[in-house]
Amino acid sequence: MKCKCGCGREVATPATGRPGEYSSASCRKRAQRQRERAVQLELALESGVTKVNEEALPSGETPVQVEG
Ligand SMILES: [Zn+2]
Repeated sequence: MKCKCGCGREVATPATGRPGEYSSASCRKRAQRQRERAVQLELALESGVTKVNEEALPSGETPVQVEG
């Protein structure tokens, strides 16, 4: 089983106990940080999109429809 952090190292599976998901503690931390960053990036993108939409459609104005 390969390390989940993406370093490509093989995770040693102990004979007893649960098999680890990461090759080492630093791998686990790295993966955790990457996940946190991904979530923060997602939130930033979402808030950014919301802001752009609000600017594009000011309250009280109807969206312009292009016919044709
Ligand atoms: Zn790793």
